[in-house]
Amino acid sequence: MFHISTASSPHRDIATVVEKYGYIPLQPPLGIDLFAEIERLKKEKNAILLAHYYQDADIQDIADFVGDSLGLSQRAAETDADIILFAGVHFMAETAKILNPNKKVLIPDLNAGCSLSDSCPPDEFAAFKLKYPDYKVVSYINTSAAIKAMSDIIVTSSNAVPIVKALPSDWKIIFAPDRNLGMYVMKKTGREMVLWNGVCMVHTIFSYQKIKALREQYADAELIAHPECEPAILEQADFIGSTTALLNYVVKSPVKRFIVATEAGILHQMRKAAPEKELVQAPAEYSCSCNTCPHMKLNTLEKIYNTLLYEMPEVTLDSATIEAARRPIERMLEMSKELGLVSKS
Ligand code: SF4
Repeated sequence: MFHISTASSPHRDIATVVEKYGYIPLQPPLGIDLFAEIERLKKEKNAILLAHYYQDADIQDIADFVGDSLGLSQRAAETDADIILFAGVHFMAETAKILNPNKKVLIPDLNAGCSLSDSCPPDEFAAFKLKYPDYKVVSYINTSAAIKAMSDIIVTSSNAVPIVKALPSDWKIIFAPDRNLGMYVMKKTGREMVLWNGVCMVHTIFSYQKIKALREQYADAELIAHPECEPAILEQADFIGSTTALLNYVVKSPVKRFIVATEAGILHQMRKAAPEKELVQAPAEYSCSCNTCPHMKLNTLEKIYNTLLYEMPEVTLDSATIEAARRPIERMLEMSKELGLVSKS
């Protein structure tokens, strides 16, 4: 833990530490009620806390809105808060900044990246794109702002299938970066696409054999899976959908027991919304049976408190990138509304 001078210029000291570590490594004062203090700071600064379903339960409970990528980007586009604090990973906070260039967008830890986004470096993707000059680029939202800026439209796991289905039939498509979601979209839409070869480190390690054994153990259970999972897992799934779709399915289905193949954080919302259902986390190929995203789990209540207090770390982007990346995101939000995939507001 670091000592920050309070005598001279604490903000300058903290900016230096953030530059070095990517977050504020300060212990909040002993004995304070972090929930109450975060609420107080949110009100005082007109800040909104957006949290992804993969955050720890206590962060989900203190957030103003909890959702998946589509819901969070829609909420970020609509907010009138002065500060957006994004408890998620870096590409999500970037998306909020792109949609709100004049607002301050904060993230508790700049090191919260994403293996899927990192699997698509902008220079390599630019070279790949050159090989397909007459193709349009459909990018999953799990990409850096630089990749979004090279895209024609963005999709999320909630809307990828209906959006790709609705795109002009003469479009030849590159889909990036998730090859599993890309293969799933091709199967559901019947459209051929050129796929970038990226995967999510969490969704790719579920064990086919261990899930098969679990299904034998719990014959009454349904397997529900996120489309970022490998095809072998998706082939045996009873239901495939985004995190929000999986949550809704558990709530509405008459089935009592589910094996859940996605990041473990969503189980918190599932248990809150359907406490009578039994949820079994799908096991990974190696080591433990809990699939948690190490990037998402970098965020903590302490970091959220410090971030609100000092308004650092801030996510910034140059105006040219914001301009180029905003168009494909807005196209997605417009198409989602037209297709009735999100509420019109
Ligand atoms: S779960 Fe996978 S796709 Fe989601 S943030 Fe973590 S690494 Fe990225």
